[in-house]
Amino acid sequence: MADFAQQTCLNILYIQILLTLTIVRKDVLNEIILMGEKVMTAKRIVPISEKYEIPSRGKVYGDLDVPSEFTLRAMTTLEEKMRLAGQGLSTIPNLINACLMSPTDFDTSILKIFDLQFLMYKLRIVTYGPEYKLVVRCDNCGKENDVVVNLDDLPVKYAEDNYIEPFTVGPLPVSGDIITCRILSANDFIEIEKESKRILSKTPNYVGDPEFILTYRYKISTINGQEVLPFKLQEYIEKMHARDMRFFDSKYADLTENIGLDFEQVHVCTSCGSDIKYTLQVTDEFFRPKY
Ligand SMILES: [Zn+2]
Repeated sequence: MADFAQQTCLNILYIQILLTLTIVRKDVLNEIILMGEKVMTAKRIVPISEKYEIPSRGKVYGDLDVPSEFTLRAMTTLEEKMRLAGQGLSTIPNLINACLMSPTDFDTSILKIFDLQFLMYKLRIVTYGPEYKLVVRCDNCGKENDVVVNLDDLPVKYAEDNYIEPFTVGPLPVSGDIITCRILSANDFIEIEKESKRILSKTPNYVGDPEFILTYRYKISTINGQEVLPFKLQEYIEKMHARDMRFFDSKYADLTENIGLDFEQVHVCTSCGSDIKYTLQVTDEFFRPKY
């Protein structure tokens, strides 16, 4: 998948979740407590939690102290309140922070987007279970197939032991420039969104979407070994030869697509038997499963 398309997907993923994050209250369960001879019924929240190893294994964060394992508990009604408060792109990391049992006092918005996305899937699983129902249409015969995906079975691509940031792309085919870059974190996306809004409010006639250039600005660390001021970097990106840009996108995608959950799925059509290839999407079912 093209890198920009991937980012767009991640943005869409956030937006979809903001729209669909309605939590059905299932947390209050009757529990029998034995107290000596006496049997009584109490309503208690059952703490369910699980420990997960994130795709980066905590290795891609340089000096930041990021562990390899995270423990999440199931969501409760309090998290539903959090969703209703509506904090834009911060909602997902805030929601995960609230359900984080270890590490403690950790802000997941510093996590790279593939680690955060991984934890978001695990939060869904620990709360509602791994069964995810969806409908996929067969391109061959048109049949709408009901599919149940086990989210626990999604393959995880872990970061290579030798992964370091910033990583190098280049020399670019036209300019010969060598660029170093980084994978974006949730905080980067939050900053990009804020800055984009600032630009649009200051420049109502802005042509296009400021997020496009801003995203490249956040990805690039140095050009030919030099750090570049934001406005100079902006100019550089705007004037980049289209062939260099294409080369950059493709190499960046090669490196970044190799970490995180793999959403590519294949289902055999129940009507004609052909393979239906699709990419798993977030729908209402994600945080609002039907029982
Ligand atoms: Zn078919």
